[in-house]
Formats: sequence, C-alpha cells, structure tokens
Amino acid sequence: MTELPPPTLRLDIDTDALAHNWRALDAMSGAARAGAAVKADCYGLGVDACVPVLRDAGCRDFFVAHWNEVPDVLRHVPAAQIAVLHGPLSVDDAAFARATGVIPVIDSVRQAKLWSETGGGPCHLMVDTGINRLGISTREVTEPSIQALDVRILMSHLACADEDSDMNARQLASFKAVMPHVRHRETSLANSAGIGLGGDYHFALTRPGLALYGGVPTKAFDDAIRQVARPQAAIIQTRLLSAGDTVGYNATFTAPTAMRVGVVSLGYADGILRAWGGGHFKHGDISLPILGKVSMDMIVIDLTHAPEIAEGDWVELPYHLPNAAQQTSLSQYELLTVLGRRFTR
Ligand SMILES: *Cc1c(COP(=O)(O)O)cnc(C)c1O
Repeated sequence: MTELPPPTLRLDIDTDALAHNWRALDAMSGAARAGAAVKADCYGLGVDACVPVLRDAGCRDFFVAHWNEVPDVLRHVPAAQIAVLHGPLSVDDAAFARATGVIPVIDSVRQAKLWSETGGGPCHLMVDTGINRLGISTREVTEPSIQALDVRILMSHLACADEDSDMNARQLASFKAVMPHVRHRETSLANSAGIGLGGDYHFALTRPGLALYGGVPTKAFDDAIRQVARPQAAIIQTRLLSAGDTVGYNATFTAPTAMRVGVVSLGYADGILRAWGGGHFKHGDISLPILGKVSMDMIVIDLTHAPEIAEGDWVELPYHLPNAAQQTSLSQYELLTVLGRRFTR
C-alpha cells in the first residue's frame, strides 16, 4: 500500500519517564516488587509503546481487565506474567487462559467452579474487602471450591487509597484476616495510591497503574512521579479575524480586535473534551489560549502573542495530570484513558 503521509497529531510518550516512574514505585514499594496495571491499552498510552519499557525496567507482573487485551500484551511478555482481572466468565475464557498460559484472577465462587471444572491450574484470587466490585466475600474463602484452587497471588483492592480514610485500615484488617484461611503463595493489595499508605500495605506485590503513566494520586508522589504523555498537534491553518468575527460552533468567542488565530488538528474525538474550553496550548514557553468551543477534529487558538508561529508548526496541550484534572474537572484516570485512536503514539 502507498505509505501514509505524516500525521498531524501525536501523543509523545516519554519512555524514560515511564521507566523512571516504575523504578520509583518499585523502590517506594519497599520489600515488595511493583507490577503494572496495563489494562485499557496502558491507560490509553499504548501497549506497544509502554509494555516493553516496563518490561525492560524490570517489571514482571502485568494486569489487564479483559481477555481480549491479552494478545497485544502477549507480544511483549511471557504469558505467565499476565493476569486477567475480570476472570473467566465462560468456558471459552477458561479455554483461552489454558491455551495461552495467562493467569486468570478468580473473582467469584462461580468462577472458581468454572476454572476447576475446566481443568484448574494456577490462578490468582481476588477477595473483596469493601469496594464491592469484583472478588469473593471474606465469608466465601472457606467454600470448598475456593479451597480447591491453586492460588498464586491472594489479592484485594482498596477503595479509598487516595484519601486519608478509615476505610484503608479496615480493608487492610479484613485482608489480613482472610490470609490464614486460604492457601496462597503471595499477597497483593496496593494500587498506586496504596503504595503511599506505607509498608503495611505493600505485601509481596504492588499493582500501580495511574502513577506509572504520570498520575499523582496523593501529595506523597509529587516529587517522585514524572509526566509521561504529551498530546501534540500541528496547526493546519492560520487565519486573520476582524473585530466582531466569531469562532466555532455557537459563536461563543467574539474577537474584540483584529487578531491572528490558528486551527489545531485535535478535538474531542481525540479525547480533548469540551472541558478544555478556556484552557490553552503551549509553544515553547508561550501560552496560546483556546478560543470558543472545542470541535470534534479542531481547536482554534489565539496566536496574538506568537507572531512567528506558522501553518505546520506544532503546539502542545499542557498535560501535567494533577493540574489538568484541576482545570478540566476530569479525573487523572479519565484524562489518560480518553485519549483517542488518531494519535500516533
Ligand atoms: C486498575 C487496577 C489497579 C491499578 O490502580 P491505579 O489506581 O491505577 O494504580 C490495581 N489493581 C486492580 C485490581 C485494578 O483494577
């Protein structure tokens, strides 16, 4: 096929920062080793861009949510290092796990029975200690179908790790209470924010996601974590407005004077939602305010303070996640996972 012309938007992934973040989280995990949540295409940043970097940094435990996320990760790491958080819902899922050698996380008594009836084998076990999403209840650990499992990692998941909440200590206590009642090799509780709660929460393995990709769940991470993802796009047209001209859908911006503007090749279809209205792009140190509403494929910016910027030049959306979350009222998780498929990564 004819080669594609160069793109006009890209997601710059700072692989050094990603490797740094994994190492920092691994160090912050103390005696525990850090794994990596790589579900949702590495939180939107791209499995192919991120998983080899995490692997080369030393990560050996990778978590996805869905079975259909396995093949992409499997191209980079061995099957035995991949776990599927949603577990086997059907005989087909169990057969796929067995054929690939990927480890299922068992989340219910029904899944435990399904896994055993289809042949059993190594698995992880999720115990619900209060988030009430997935996982067997603490009462169910003594069920014969659970006792029959070959559990590699006994795990639970914190609901409020990014807050100073009593819930954390309560979940920790419940988790510790079930440990003697089910045979297992290792234990795991903390997500990114959980790592910051201290050594009691680390166990053998931590499971950061957000902080790997530049998220700062609590102040404790502020200095340790570096920004990884930078959305950048080309200016595909510059225009001169006269005083009184309006910009974009519903004409929400009116030019107070004659001014020069640029049309950036990026929009809400790329995950730059309308919540960014009133924000700005950057060209080097120069701030370029967003004018009017964000469109599906375009955003118009004010070039008044950057007369040298021309069509074809690139601009960057400031995407330091804590700041961006504050500005847009989106969560840091949403800001990452919403980034669209048109970005080259
Ligand atoms: C997504 C997920 C993680 C990672 O959580 P972060 O808050 O992104 O660090 C860890 N464990 C489980 C079970 C998850 O679903």
